[in-house]
Amino acid sequence: TIYNLGSVNIDHVYQVDHFVQPGETMASTAYQQLLGGKGANQSVALARAGASVKHIGKLCKSDNQYVSMLTRYGVDCEHIALEETPSGHAIIQVTPEGENAIVLFGGANQTIASRDIEQALATASKDDWLLLQNETSALESAIAIAKQRGVRVAFNPAPMTDAVKELPLNDIDLLIVNEVEGAMLTGCDDKAGILDYCKQQWPNKDIILTLGKQGVCMLSQGQLVEVDAFTVDAVDTTAAGDTFIGFFLAAYSQNIDSQQALQRGCAASAISVTRAGAAQSIPNQSEVDAFLQK
Ligand code: ADP
Repeated sequence: TIYNLGSVNIDHVYQVDHFVQPGETMASTAYQQLLGGKGANQSVALARAGASVKHIGKLCKSDNQYVSMLTRYGVDCEHIALEETPSGHAIIQVTPEGENAIVLFGGANQTIASRDIEQALATASKDDWLLLQNETSALESAIAIAKQRGVRVAFNPAPMTDAVKELPLNDIDLLIVNEVEGAMLTGCDDKAGILDYCKQQWPNKDIILTLGKQGVCMLSQGQLVEVDAFTVDAVDTTAAGDTFIGFFLAAYSQNIDSQQALQRGCAASAISVTRAGAAQSIPNQSEVDAFLQK
């Protein structure tokens, strides 16, 4: 089982002619409400990749339709608590050029406490994984509880903040970053620098650096494995990283070798960038299998 301690956000997406200016009140031309949050996206990707995934999170009671939605995607939601606090949400303006501007409110995602994680991981064991992003509270206790139980920890420090550097990163088994996160974490600004830093700092850890349309590389016990991205016509790269992580970890946690697991992640994320949206752009296993046969 993969336990995913992660955000569930409601994305309020407004089409606008231009970003709202100071003091301006502006009518939006279209509105959509969507399931979002890196946590939810990664749970959906894991489920669509065929993994057994239990999401650990919190939402406001009145938003329980999002729990039903996650359940329909195949995510076990037993450990999603419904409370009074407002759900995490994002107010997203999108211009005709496709640029966005986002206001994010952490809400219930930031009220998760260590006892919630203790309960969720009560029967977890060394065959299980705990996946974390940087959109919830209780990361430090989650890492400690997982370690106590022998559960392996995968961490995607997104969005990256200074607080990440204070976490016990030595207790992480698998670290997954994109170029921006890798640069902020290491203080190095290119692929070679980031990889060198990681190799020095964490020689026994698995580290994945995703490189957008350049593909991905992984340091596994000091060995470098590289996989190219697939060439596709990208229309929307939202959730590319989340899709990659879900499909990679679903395979890797089943002891599929790194090269093949990276390839599945790249294939799934390549499909996702050819489709609009976040959760709804994530393919399922058979689409990924068919894509890889081509
Ligand atoms: P994030 O979405 O977190 O910024 P990346 O941009 O590095 O992460 O993308 C994650 C993975 O998605 C890449 O390693 C790659 O396999 C795939 N991907 C992203 N953009 C493209 C693209 N334009 N074409 C094909 N694959 C892509």
